[in-house]
Amino acid sequence: MSHVMNTYARLPVAFASGQGAYLTDTNGKQYLDGLTGLAVVGLGHADPTVAAAISEQAQTLTHTSNLYEIPTQSRLADRLCGISGMEKVFFANSGAEANEAAIKLARLKGNKAGLKNPSVLVMDGSFHGRTMATLTATGNRKVHAGFEPLLSGFARAPFDDVAAVQQIADNNPEVVALLVEPILGEGGIYIASDGYLEALRRICDAHDWLMMLDEIQTGNGRTGKYFAYQHTNVLPDVVTTAKGLGNGMPIGVCMARDEAAELFVPGNHGSTFGGNPLACAAGNAVLDVIERDDLIDRAAELGDRMLTKLQTELAGSNRIKQIRGLGLMLAVELNEDAPNLVVDAMAQGVLINVTQGNIVRMLPPLTLTDTEADILVDTVVDLIRD
Ligand SMILES: *Cc1c(COP(=O)(O)O)cnc(C)c1O
Repeated sequence: MSHVMNTYARLPVAFASGQGAYLTDTNGKQYLDGLTGLAVVGLGHADPTVAAAISEQAQTLTHTSNLYEIPTQSRLADRLCGISGMEKVFFANSGAEANEAAIKLARLKGNKAGLKNPSVLVMDGSFHGRTMATLTATGNRKVHAGFEPLLSGFARAPFDDVAAVQQIADNNPEVVALLVEPILGEGGIYIASDGYLEALRRICDAHDWLMMLDEIQTGNGRTGKYFAYQHTNVLPDVVTTAKGLGNGMPIGVCMARDEAAELFVPGNHGSTFGGNPLACAAGNAVLDVIERDDLIDRAAELGDRMLTKLQTELAGSNRIKQIRGLGLMLAVELNEDAPNLVVDAMAQGVLINVTQGNIVRMLPPLTLTDTEADILVDTVVDLIRD
């Protein structure tokens, strides 16, 4: 019997090593990784630049404390602000923690304004994490179930529905911020309509709300821009990201600009491990590789290639409800649940994911070759056609 707490339905495979887009299991079988640990290992496994940076930093200094200056952290903050248009960065260790910081910023703003129950508007179908505040923010009853009482201070609207947000803006003076994913990740790769973020920006401006974007999954080049909002001309007030930022080292950030960047003061918030030299060395190395190898444009190019190929090869299939994608966030929504698809793909040496029961999801590395991209699509197409 395992002594690991029973929080995951695990597949019966363990990996011993990885290289680029491939993982090798403990029996020596190879798998093309179309999932990258859920959008984490964006540069591929055992990236040599990141590995060298981690190794060098581990032999120099892994941890000091946020009581002291941390130059690698300052450098990563400068670079992330340069990329995002934000002004300040709080360093955490995970996506949920990054979102916790965002929710705390919203509450500080509301309490400063003298509101009794300052609220954050969140969207149905969203996923924001598993801590109490972020599971409350998550728009999925299954994530809430059994953990009541949920936190107060949240309002809810359907995703991609501007009218619903406008209605809340007109009627709920306690709302101080909205938190939204530009693309629902866990929810099934639902991409917001053109103009959605622009409309949310206008509502936030009109009602003095913070526009907070959860780019935990969409960030770090995956969609073909560093952040998904950069496909628009919208500048949010708060942006969180995590998954791809460390290529496997735990790191999360909550970034803010303008008023939101000045809300935290010493004593408000903190984290023992957040932004330690080891995690930040990995983050800096990830940015180095993304820039050096032009991986953001490559993600866009690969995404177009894969999406087109999926659409062409699955055209006319009566199993398909919709095919969606932006960059390397790709989904094939089926008409019926596909309980065996993940295991069948594994048998063929390909790792993919099925979310919501019927949505085949691919989050492959930004470093795929064209051939690897084609193998991934062909395998998925063959499995769906069967
Ligand atoms: C994965 C994810 C989170 C939670 O990140 P953790 O690191 O697991 O806490 C939050 N938001 C989105 C959009 C995610 O995809």
